[in-house]
Amino acid sequence: MSRLVLKFGGTSVADLDRIRNVACHVKREVDAGHAVAVVVSAMAGETNKLVGFCRDMAPLHDAREYDSVVAAGEQVTTGLLAIALQTMGVNARSWLGWQLPIRTDGAHGAAHIEAIDAKLLDERITSGQVAVIAGFQGLGPDNRITTLGRGGSDASAVAVAAALNAERCDIYTDVDGVYTTDPRIVPAARRLPKVAYEEMLEMASLGAKVLQVRAVEMAMVHGVRTFVRSSFDAPDAPEIVGANEPVGTLICDEDEIVEKNTVTGIAYSKDEAQITLRHVQDKPGVAAAVFGPLADANINVDMIVQNVSEDGRTTDLTFTVPRSDYERSMASIEANSEEIGFGGLEGVTDVVKVSVIGIGMRSHAGVAAQAFRALAGRNINIRAITTSEIKISVLIDAAFTELAVRTLHSLYGLDTQ
Ligand code: ASP
Ligand code: MG
Repeated sequence: MSRLVLKFGGTSVADLDRIRNVACHVKREVDAGHAVAVVVSAMAGETNKLVGFCRDMAPLHDAREYDSVVAAGEQVTTGLLAIALQTMGVNARSWLGWQLPIRTDGAHGAAHIEAIDAKLLDERITSGQVAVIAGFQGLGPDNRITTLGRGGSDASAVAVAAALNAERCDIYTDVDGVYTTDPRIVPAARRLPKVAYEEMLEMASLGAKVLQVRAVEMAMVHGVRTFVRSSFDAPDAPEIVGANEPVGTLICDEDEIVEKNTVTGIAYSKDEAQITLRHVQDKPGVAAAVFGPLADANINVDMIVQNVSEDGRTTDLTFTVPRSDYERSMASIEANSEEIGFGGLEGVTDVVKVSVIGIGMRSHAGVAAQAFRALAGRNINIRAITTSEIKISVLIDAAFTELAVRTLHSLYGLDTQ
């Protein structure tokens, strides 16, 4: 009997009608003969409300109590979905994180899943009982409820799928798959039938919002085939019932992808800030003096460029940090200014990182050069560059985001004809 894990996000369980609709999707898979575990998020907006309660009660609050509050949203939807399924004659029960248990580390508010005891779960679902599991929550080493960080129910679903050795993890959401780029910017964007784990990891980390980064990491490590699909289709539509292939995007091993594109997608992230130190002494230890304190403050530095200053004797050092860490980063540099030694400090926040992603780049030279030429042709100035085997990222002025994304999307032939 094949095991399937289905995950439904907040918009898919936003009200009772939507939950009934979810129950129909679940019943369809049960009727098809699968052993089914379902992971649900809280109703849309519910977690935000709970987070707001904690903040209003006390801006600085006990993270263990925060977890106890914000995990409550998922408790409601698991119970309601189990009731909806029972009403339809499907045997189902709800499971909270601590009941399985889903064991996590002790980082309250941003815990990592460490282990799931799937023995009992497996017995129940193979005997025909649907398990409706609360996403986003687990049990910490202190025997208290933990939560996995915002958007964490994707990670819960992939972890349950890994523990059950499921054939697939279906992520039902409010879009019908992963697109070559954001369709709001490029209406000609295409839905991708398949994306390799590594590509998806880059796309999620570089700004695509469909899946939580940690969930993709876990899918890659455990080889969990993950299918992103829409929960808004009628549960009995022909493409859903199996008359045709269901519509969606499969995230899988690259060996499963026959037609490999050189470039798979274009992502962009507005969550960037650029910091430049002018006239830095050209001597050993400077980079350590700049980046050591930033690392100690848990600030992720991304793009780094160093070049010779106009005076020819010193260097200019420029790098990017997440927008939310900009003020802290500037403060850290100023606090260490004596040790670093520089002539000027500049920062900008209206910058955007645009990235070109594709596993095919490994075997194709010249992809980056093409991008640089195309952007130059549009008069778009590149402020910084980083590359890996399967991606090229450029930092540009935010005003040019749409133009750059559109230009690169057509350049690599990703537009629908
Ligand atoms: N309900 C949680 C959140 O809003 C988890 C999730 O939806 O994935 O972040
Ligand atoms: Mg989500």
